[in-house]
Amino acid sequence: MNVLVISDIHANLIALEAVLADAEGQYEAVWCLGDLVGYGPDPDACVQRVKALPGLRCVRGNHDAAVLDDIDVGAFNREARFTVQWTYHHLSGDSFDFLEALPEVVRVGEVTLTHGSPREPVWEYILDRHTATLNFRYLATPFCFVGHTHLPVVYMRQGGRGVARKVIPEEGESIALEGDMILNPGSVGQPRDSDPRAAYALFDTESLVWTFRRVAYDIPTVQERMREYGLPERHIVRLEGGW
Ligand code: ZN
Repeated sequence: MNVLVISDIHANLIALEAVLADAEGQYEAVWCLGDLVGYGPDPDACVQRVKALPGLRCVRGNHDAAVLDDIDVGAFNREARFTVQWTYHHLSGDSFDFLEALPEVVRVGEVTLTHGSPREPVWEYILDRHTATLNFRYLATPFCFVGHTHLPVVYMRQGGRGVARKVIPEEGESIALEGDMILNPGSVGQPRDSDPRAAYALFDTESLVWTFRRVAYDIPTVQERMREYGLPERHIVRLEGGW
């Protein structure tokens, strides 16, 4: 089965549509690693679009949890808090129910899906190989797909021991999964690796090949919509720089 792996859409519908168009015909199922909402101008439309995708498996991110009031928004900075409250008022009851029903961890065959990390599914950032190494202990499967950092990356180790290796992929790079691996496809709606294009991955569950992909989208239109809603300027300008 060919799977489209997406994460951190962050209410950026135009970026999400660009990804779906770019991957069209190349997947039968979608695995979504959380943070459907937060930051962007289209939270409800993004939830509804994801909800209707084929073969969907989806986990809850920290921004999804914040809107549900499941975590303390005091942990967010002032601008993020404003956006959480704005998002709360721009979600339908149906989208709210969808987010509320999302699990923190999903297992599909040999793969665990979670937003942050196996150890702390909603909150922990895996930003270095030591954190990745510790997290392998919390995995019941050889492979784990995470989001949360908005940075495409692979952590890998062989033989179930030693410190993980960290590999930052090239665009279009394909990797055959083996040993223990934690992979992050990057972010659809707010990339932070200095490349502003939407990031995602394709994964073949039979050959176990994962491919990193990028696609450009209409950033000025998203920014315009965010300004119309009075969303924080910092979240608007960062889209064009990819930070
Ligand atoms: Zn996020």
